[in-house]
Amino acid sequence: METIERYQPEFVVRHQAIAGTCRCPACQKAEGDWPQVSLWLHNQQRDSLEPGCESVARELLLNPQAFTLHVSQGETPGEQVLSPWAETLNQQCINLAVNPSLSLEGSLYAIGVLLSKAQQYFDEGKNEPQLLISMGEQLAILAEQGVLEEQISLLPAIEENRLTTLKEMGQMRLTLNLPMAQKMTMMLKLSELSIMQPSRLSERLQELEQAALDCTVFSERPHILRNVLIYRLYSDVFPGMGCQNFGAALLGLTRQFFQLKMLSAIWVADNQTLSEEQIVTLFSAWFSWSKFNRPTASDGRSSDYNLLYGLSLL
Ligand SMILES: [Zn+2]
Repeated sequence: METIERYQPEFVVRHQAIAGTCRCPACQKAEGDWPQVSLWLHNQQRDSLEPGCESVARELLLNPQAFTLHVSQGETPGEQVLSPWAETLNQQCINLAVNPSLSLEGSLYAIGVLLSKAQQYFDEGKNEPQLLISMGEQLAILAEQGVLEEQISLLPAIEENRLTTLKEMGQMRLTLNLPMAQKMTMMLKLSELSIMQPSRLSERLQELEQAALDCTVFSERPHILRNVLIYRLYSDVFPGMGCQNFGAALLGLTRQFFQLKMLSAIWVADNQTLSEEQIVTLFSAWFSWSKFNRPTASDGRSSDYNLLYGLSLL
């Protein structure tokens, strides 16, 4: 029998101990194997869980070791073949996400640079994984020298892109596990974004960017957002199997972080504090929403356009 590698991150293993006891809204409505998800590839099985369940979100977000990987032997190869090129690209993205020299924004930027190069190789039909490994190594050196963090500070601020992305958040429908009054306030604050006049929206963006600085929990516990990033890369085999527009993939990723930061800022502007439990509630609702509102792989725009758009959301 052909054997494959089975990966289980720590948050999956820890969640097994409490599985079946969660009474969060998503679990109360759930059926079947919820919240388990497995990705069956030809040479590996990636076990994961849906963070739309609050107890999953708690394990995923709050544990600095959530992505310590447990590897065992799996037995049934899946049908989907992950090409060596796609597997290497995913691994290089993960390496940049966990690079200790980089801030979260630094990791996203580095992933953007890697994807830009990957697009070039892809368009030229160069599919040797070694090219991606060399690029990853070069980026790791630049990260260590502080060059990447410096480059982020030089990125042009394109407010228009941030305004468009903030306005789109007015369409979000989150199932928040909060007392009715708090839930209503949050939903009103979100939906008003879609109807604000341009000048008011611009003011609101500035207010929220200021409020985001008050979300000190993210700098005190950097693993929270870092784990969201690793989750995305791991569970989606980012930039995704069959991806052809790598800029669009980056935009999808940075848009998600923009949304999470703005959600947190809206919360903290009204409530003054943002605790770990409140993050679990907000992010878990966002994960449920984003599952059915995934960024489309390609919107017809070029990879370069999308890449620059994505970087302007950092
Ligand atoms: Zn649950």
